[in-house]
Amino acid sequence: MFLISSKIYILMTKDIYSGKIISKKKNNVHFLLKIDKSLEYLPGQFISIFKKENDQLLRAKPYTLASLDQRYVELYIGIVENGEFSNYLDQLQINDDIYFKGPVGIPIEKKITSNNLIIITLGCGIATYRAFIHHNVSKYNISLFFINKKKDVFFIEEFEELSKRNKNFRYTEIVGKERQDFNLEKEIRENVTYLLSGPPKATEFYSQLLKKNNVNEQNIIIN
Ligand SMILES: Cc1cc2nc3c(=O)[nH]c(=O)nc-3n(C[C@H](O)[C@H](O)[C@H](O)COP(=O)(O)OP(=O)(O)OC[C@H]3O[C@@H](n4cnc5c(N)ncnc54)[C@H](O)[C@@H]3O)c2cc1C
Repeated sequence: MFLISSKIYILMTKDIYSGKIISKKKNNVHFLLKIDKSLEYLPGQFISIFKKENDQLLRAKPYTLASLDQRYVELYIGIVENGEFSNYLDQLQINDDIYFKGPVGIPIEKKITSNNLIIITLGCGIATYRAFIHHNVSKYNISLFFINKKKDVFFIEEFEELSKRNKNFRYTEIVGKERQDFNLEKEIRENVTYLLSGPPKATEFYSQLLKKNNVNEQNIIIN
């Protein structure tokens, strides 16, 4: 059961979907978009959300579809300090319009090289793999390391519950000061695909660390 209190009603035009925010949840920002036509997509695909300025849709940035319900589009937006788009989305209010194109992108499953997956997500990077995990939890051996500034009640409940029901899914949340002690090198194994997502500097850091420990580049996927 999702703790959702945000809804955006979507109308479809030729290539661009437009909709109204009908509710919104903070922490960072969690949107649920209700669509009036079913939208087909696979885990890991994303939409491009436009920023509207002076009645014009000028530029767009990608945001991952965090669930697989074709009647809804679910998004998690991490607020980046001084970030243009994330703060634009954060200031949107109920009944404001939102516009996006897509979905596009290579589904995660097409990039995987092994049945054993170690997923390392930082902050809102969790959005990238959430739908994938739910969809594939019985198919792969998955260890999820969710690294976050503070405890996230929403995800703790969701993933702990999932790990209780699936013995091949392991969930570790690393919060606050614990982040400094996270030792990825201890998790390095043979025959594993490493999936990373989050702030570019952090994913680059973990990717370099894996390479330094002789993990083949093709087994490291940054989304
Ligand atoms: C395929 C794809 C899917 C994505 N899906 C999501 C998603 O589901 N949810 C989501 O929140 N974001 C997602 N992003 C990131 C998103 O597109 C924006 O890059 C992000 O919201 C920051 O944009 P901004 O305009 O607010 O910040 P900017 O104005 O671009 O950046 C401001 C400053 O913050 C730094 N910065 C940029 N991103 C981050 C970050 N994540 N953490 C910390 N510092 C940062 C920049 O280097 C810069 O110094 C995705 C990106 C890609 C490529």
